[in-house]
Amino acid sequence: MAKIIAGIGTSHVPSIGLVHDQGRQNEPDWKPLFDGYKPVKTWLNEKKPDIAIVVYNDHGCDFFFDKYPTFAVGAAENYAVGDEGWGRRPLPDFEGNPDFSWHLCNSLVYNEFDITVCQEMSVEHGFLVPMHLCWDYDEVWPVQVVPVAVNVIQHPLPTALRCWKLGQAIREAVEAYPENKSVVILGTGGMSHQLNGARFGHLNTEFDNNFLDKIETNPNVLTEMTHQQIMEQAGAEAVELIMWLTMRGAMSENVKRIHRNYYAPMTTGMGLIALEDSASSEHP
Ligand code: FE
Repeated sequence: MAKIIAGIGTSHVPSIGLVHDQGRQNEPDWKPLFDGYKPVKTWLNEKKPDIAIVVYNDHGCDFFFDKYPTFAVGAAENYAVGDEGWGRRPLPDFEGNPDFSWHLCNSLVYNEFDITVCQEMSVEHGFLVPMHLCWDYDEVWPVQVVPVAVNVIQHPLPTALRCWKLGQAIREAVEAYPENKSVVILGTGGMSHQLNGARFGHLNTEFDNNFLDKIETNPNVLTEMTHQQIMEQAGAEAVELIMWLTMRGAMSENVKRIHRNYYAPMTTGMGLIALEDSASSEHP
């Protein structure tokens, strides 16, 4: 059967993509951020997971406000790199696993998650930035992917608890998949940030570090947070953090921390946490 071996929570910011593409990772302002991901890259390189389920949000690239699904799951052979308005980034497209994706979609729908199944989907910075922060790539990416897009930009949004339950349903689906596949799940989304209005640039590093503590040790308390509470404390766009709960909901209760990092001299708190699923390490 397939199993979830790890979960990774990370922020995503479009400017990181530009810096990556221009090869400026060693500039003083950016080096601490990129270096923060190196232990995760090394660890993933050793574990070589077969599939990455990436829970992210689309910022108006493939989905737009006229029709915005609450939860959308990819079931395509390939996922193209989307153009967010400044041209296609020089990254390889992503290989999907339609058999695994369709299994996941069937399982989620029969588990009462009314998802949108996408047989064609392009992916943008919410997906791309975490991928190239966590994996090295060549002509192709070393892992197959399943994009899971969550609406965190057009209200009404799913609750934090609903995102957590989606994670639990994803775990059930993965464990019912008959082939031996090792799966990593990513939950992406900026930590504290606000990109509009009088509070532009609002950061709350205390909130972010508390969130990093809780996502590891006591994630249930985070599922009780309302959108309003998150936005008031950490900025309007910090509501993206509910997607980290899908990652954590897909993991067992006991996890082992592989790495944690926080870097916040920019407009978004850049957090990272990598957790190994202890259920998977007990039964290699
Ligand atoms: Fe975002």
